[in-house]
Amino acid sequence: MQGWAERLTEQGGLGEVEELILQIAFGEYLNQIAGGIPMNQGEMARPQDMGLGWDDIARLDTDAVRELRARGNSQAARVRLVQLMQERNADVTVGATGLDDELEMIREQFRRFAVEKVEPHAHEWHLRDELIPMEIITELAEMGVFGLTIPEEHGGLGLSKASMVVVSEELSRGYIGVGSLGTRSEIAAELILCGGTSEQKRHWLPKIASAEILPTAVFTEPNTGSDLGALRTRAVRGTDGDYLVTGNKTWITHAARAHVMTLLARTDPGSTDHRGLSMFLAEKEPGSDENPFPSAGMTGGEIEVLGYRGMKEYELAFDGFRVKGENLLGGEEGRGFKQLMETFESARIQTAARAIGVAQSALDIAMRYAQERKQFGRALIAFPRVSAKLAMMAVEIMVARQLTYFSALGKGSRPPLRPRGRDGQAFGRAGGVGRGRQRAADPRRQWLRDGVSDQPCAVRRAHPQHLRGRRRNPGAGDRPPAAGLRRAQGASSRR
Ligand SMILES: Cc1cc2nc3c(=O)[nH]c(=O)nc-3n(C[C@H](O)[C@H](O)[C@H](O)COP(=O)(O)OP(=O)(O)OC[C@H]3O[C@@H](n4cnc5c(N)ncnc54)[C@H](O)[C@@H]3O)c2cc1C
Repeated sequence: MQGWAERLTEQGGLGEVEELILQIAFGEYLNQIAGGIPMNQGEMARPQDMGLGWDDIARLDTDAVRELRARGNSQAARVRLVQLMQERNADVTVGATGLDDELEMIREQFRRFAVEKVEPHAHEWHLRDELIPMEIITELAEMGVFGLTIPEEHGGLGLSKASMVVVSEELSRGYIGVGSLGTRSEIAAELILCGGTSEQKRHWLPKIASAEILPTAVFTEPNTGSDLGALRTRAVRGTDGDYLVTGNKTWITHAARAHVMTLLARTDPGSTDHRGLSMFLAEKEPGSDENPFPSAGMTGGEIEVLGYRGMKEYELAFDGFRVKGENLLGGEEGRGFKQLMETFESARIQTAARAIGVAQSALDIAMRYAQERKQFGRALIAFPRVSAKLAMMAVEIMVARQLTYFSALGKGSRPPLRPRGRDGQAFGRAGGVGRGRQRAADPRRQWLRDGVSDQPCAVRRAHPQHLRGRRRNPGAGDRPPAAGLRRAQGASSRR
């Protein structure tokens, strides 16, 4: 949060909203660190649980910390924040995110898509427990959602993990099912990029990027969830080089409609831990309502769920299900667990982004309701405890956002930064301006560019540039960060 505020200050983007969020977050969390951070309703993480003694905690006993603990998260600050949130109702986020203009414009494009194409139908899809219509998937594919972070040489847009986070946030804000459509493609693509052979990259990645192939992630088993290293599904190599898979999987999202399964199975029958596991790109026929699992050697049944609808969950049973030998990821047995853990780093960041989108949607709805619903002759938002809750929602969302962006920018640095041409066009690693022109002709890139800016949409991986603050409040940068605290105190005395 401090890094976010410093970057915004440098750019002159730290306005009153951001200052209030910062001081409330610090005020609240400094108190929580001293007393215990609630992990959930029944679990606290206290400094002493992590081996810290009174002397360690005493180091926090400074004037600045004392002031923030006493007055950072004040009622006046929360009320003022909510007042500003009402005045700036049209802002896409509460407070500047600190991401650069390109990412914020991508956000606005996907926000618009969600408002126009997703939100009007989402509740009906949920109530009818339907699969998200294929037209939505096709449109998202045209917009490049399934190949956002796949390098251009493999048919993707080669954008940063931060772009994946922003897109996931905004689609999930519309409907968690739509925001989660890309997760399986992200997992499959990352698995192949990190662990696949050149031939596997050439074959699968362009098809995943275009959504010609929809993947599903097949890891969990009835007795094996968190402890994936203990899974039991077996894959036995036959004399023809193909594998026959036998075992049960459960909680598999979007399994019926998918074309390929990233399937984790045990190839070393003598092993009992993660070392005997291998990852497969197991092809299957997509099913229909009447026959959801038409492929030989595989059956499945739906698990009905209360929420997270739109893709459906399934339990699967494999009985001699055939996987081509060439579809062993990386062509080497025993590497599946390591390959998956590397991939989960990205998948977890994307999951965090989906959670932020859902939280933002909850805040949008709560704000609306608190403004429209009247009790005791006033809108609910006028009651201090209601507005305090709304303020804390906005603060917690920004804290989660900054943590997620920090992770995405760190994770996204895998491919090296590319030099830029004079026209701002990024150069491919092997190609030059010619390849740049070819990329510029990509209709998905064109779509992003039309929506994003009149400058070519240059490829950016993790780079401080992505953290440029947006100048939402010119002149605000002249104020020191403590100004918000002072103003909130003033607001307090005015009340
Ligand atoms: C809606 C939904 C969709 C899903 N989609 C997929 C999918 O597409 N593909 C797929 O493979 N799986 C999927 N899953 C499965 C999901 O990955 C597992 O539910 C998850 O890994 C947890 O496993 P489990 O449910 O068996 O819980 P368990 O591993 O049995 O855990 C039970 C509880 O114990 C806690 N726990 C476990 N180990 C520890 C530990 N060491 N320390 C502290 N606490 C611990 C857990 O946090 C949890 O609260 C999905 C699940 C759901 C609910």
